[in-house]
Amino acid sequence: MRVVLLGPPGAGKGTQAQIIAARMNVPAISTGDIFRANVSGQTELGKKAKVFMDAGELVPDEITVAMVKDRLAEPDAEAGFLLDGFPRTIAQAEQLRDSLTELGHGLDRVLELVVDEEELVRRLSGRRMLVDGQMVQREDDKPETVRRRLVVYREQTAPLSGFYEEAGLLARIDAIGSVEEVTSRALQALGIQDSAGAGRPDAD
Ligand code: AMP
Repeated sequence: MRVVLLGPPGAGKGTQAQIIAARMNVPAISTGDIFRANVSGQTELGKKAKVFMDAGELVPDEITVAMVKDRLAEPDAEAGFLLDGFPRTIAQAEQLRDSLTELGHGLDRVLELVVDEEELVRRLSGRRMLVDGQMVQREDDKPETVRRRLVVYREQTAPLSGFYEEAGLLARIDAIGSVEEVTSRALQALGIQDSAGAGRPDAD
């Protein structure tokens, strides 16, 4: 199965991507994570991306698309993938569609996590991640950058919702609630059986 997870920063895409991809038995591919790994590793790609990331802007399409193309060509993505944070512009979506067509594939579903903006600001300002044993705030979760990221989302990424709706691929789910509740809605929207319920005999 080939799935895109769409949604604003703070919607819980990263968390849900890990859980859903494990259930789908495909890799979760997060462009944000790949960029952050390159920033930490101080690679050329990381140095280029950091400038845009710290400003809350999108990394230019040509850098991002080439990186995703390489990642999708790896053997573990052959049978399927869950993309988290890509595409983020219509141009990226068109290039993804064309690359998949070349490979004889297409997307099966695009799942949009819906959260109102007030809740996003609240979540992002409180978000911390573990780095070298310490809980730190992501540089781009600082309040001014968060505001910019939300504007960028509204202007450049939100139109993807209509793009995928027209393609008949879009499923929208309410992403407010516990992680388990949102996962359950997501699996249902993807037509994957939710076996997380208690008491299931472990047959496999
Ligand atoms: P994320 O972890 O998905 O919130 O991504 C963090 C940052 O990485 C974003 O604010 C962008 O600067 C950059 N980024 C991640 N994915 C993309 C993408 N598909 N296109 C452009 N920039 C991206």
